[in-house]
Amino acid sequence: MTTTNAIDLNAEETAANRRELKARERRAAAESKRRIEAAHAEAAEALRTNTCPTCGRKVRRNLSLTGWVQCEQFGAPAFRKDSTAAPCDWQGFTQ
Ligand SMILES: [Zn+2]
Repeated sequence: MTTTNAIDLNAEETAANRRELKARERRAAAESKRRIEAAHAEAAEALRTNTCPTCGRKVRRNLSLTGWVQCEQFGAPAFRKDSTAAPCDWQGFTQ
């Protein structure tokens, strides 16, 4: 094998690595998009049915951020619908 061939092989390997990295990035981006869409759909469904997907209690919008939905039992006791009932940490975004 000549030095030139070795260099060509390395160049091919590098190009293949770049293609593989790009393919991995595309798959990771697609997976991230899918997860975000699933989370948005879950929050939209919780809002539509007014039901927390974790504990089954009602949900409420948090108007601090657009699309923010939380279980009515989310947060510090003073912020919960029923401070004597169990807390729930479910929250999501519809967008
Ligand atoms: Zn809940």
